[in-house]
Amino acid sequence: MIGSPGRPRSIREVAERNLCTGCGACAFVQPQVIKMVDVLGEGRRPLTIADGDVEPDTTAALAACPGHLLGHPHPPRKAESRGEVGELAAGWGPVLELYEGFAADPELRFAGSSGGVATALSEYAIGAGGMSGVLHIRARTDVPYLNETTYSTSKAELRNATGSRYAPASPCDRLDLVEEAAAPSVFIGKPCDVAATSKARRLRPELDDKLGITIAVFCAGTPSTAGTLEMLRAMGVQDPADVRGLRYRGNGWPGRAEATTDDSEGTHSLSYEESWGAILQRHRQWRCHVCADHTGEFADVAVGDPWYRPIDDDPGRSLVLVRTERGRRVVRDAIAAGVVVLERAEPSLLPASQPNLLLTRGAVFGRVLTLRLLGLAAPRFVNMPTLRYWLGLPLQQKLQSTIGTAKRARRKHLRRPADLTPYLPPALDSDEPTLTEGG
Ligand SMILES: Cc1cc2nc3c(=O)[nH]c(=O)nc-3n(C[C@H](O)[C@H](O)[C@H](O)COP(=O)(O)OP(=O)(O)OC[C@H]3O[C@@H](n4cnc5c(N)ncnc54)[C@H](O)[C@@H]3O)c2cc1C
Ligand code: SF4
Ligand code: SF4
Repeated sequence: MIGSPGRPRSIREVAERNLCTGCGACAFVQPQVIKMVDVLGEGRRPLTIADGDVEPDTTAALAACPGHLLGHPHPPRKAESRGEVGELAAGWGPVLELYEGFAADPELRFAGSSGGVATALSEYAIGAGGMSGVLHIRARTDVPYLNETTYSTSKAELRNATGSRYAPASPCDRLDLVEEAAAPSVFIGKPCDVAATSKARRLRPELDDKLGITIAVFCAGTPSTAGTLEMLRAMGVQDPADVRGLRYRGNGWPGRAEATTDDSEGTHSLSYEESWGAILQRHRQWRCHVCADHTGEFADVAVGDPWYRPIDDDPGRSLVLVRTERGRRVVRDAIAAGVVVLERAEPSLLPASQPNLLLTRGAVFGRVLTLRLLGLAAPRFVNMPTLRYWLGLPLQQKLQSTIGTAKRARRKHLRRPADLTPYLPPALDSDEPTLTEGG
């Protein structure tokens, strides 16, 4: 049983108390004592390496961890004095400019998850922008239905990793590659990955110097590997060891989930609704249900889907939020260089594109409050208002966020420490847990 509802005192407690997002920042800060592993029903999780019976002190890693604590340095009320869009500040974090558009190269636009903008900006940054490379994720080369962190230095490598992967990924576990690079790098990740990076850079001046730009992809939640395995079964893939390639999205907008296998069938696929809608989102890790930042509030640039427009055979479009001056420079330069085709958009396009996210922010207040009242662990958010959005929820949703959360907490056994047994993919003939190289 997990007793105290107080703040976690170690990385192990963050993971056991279901506060872990799986970002991997702890493994970057203390690589000697923390390794990231896949946990089948959870996600990427830190495995702490004890010295005999003695648990390592993980205080340093805890300082970079976004799982238990996340916050902005300023309250949203003075947003306009900082050049931010006032009407968006409280619910969506700092936004300086909004755009809608796509990668100028039609092949990249088609291959990308929404409009290929994250990859196009990265290509620009490592080309004309003079940066060294891009830390992001791709399908694992030996087990393609899992992910691995990679540092891409060429267009070809970047294009090999387009498309959202609705599966656990911990891109922060190799922030050492950014720190060691000859010139600044791009970092791409989910909002929690970017939040972790922004916490880590405050602790590590060398990292701060080498982060050229951070790009967040909007994120409704990360499904566990158990979700991917259920999706593969629904596709008709009998043995995951047969999988030679797996995409969750892209190649059109939103594109289909597609697995290539060794068996006689060759290609298996499901629509976005059949994969994400019907299967994957049911497997989201617990921390995603208490996530207040789905749009990359700590990034220089954030990219998501402009879902406000009906999609009918569209080659792809992205909604782009410029969140910092550094982001503004790169986006404007990339537009001028003809790498991306972006048009300025009104602030109202953001809530219109992601209509559920303010409701989610309100629900997070109810969920966190309920967890605390039950004596269970919950993340703390600083300068990220949630109460006002909870007050605006219809009664039914208020009840769902409180009474529903209490029921869910019981169903999910949140009082017990999470089982962190590493998952060994059947394809691997090894007794070792599936550790990320160096992470
Ligand atoms: C788990 C998940 C949930 C998402 N949910 C939403 C949503 O609810 N609403 C919405 O608007 N958008 C969501 N997105 C983002 C959206 O799908 C697109 O990724 C985003 O619009 C960028 O598209 P793009 O074409 O510019 O990216 P691309 O040019 O295709 O580049 C995508 C980049 O993201 C990186 N990446 C892919 N998967 C992951 C991952 N799991 N973790 C870290 N980095 C990754 C890749 O390495 C690549 O560099 C989600 C993405 C993920 C990964
Ligand atoms: S730093 Fe990231 S991976 Fe490590 S415990 Fe915190 S949320 Fe989990
Ligand atoms: S929903 Fe939030 S916590 Fe979950 S993966 Fe996405 S950004 Fe991270």
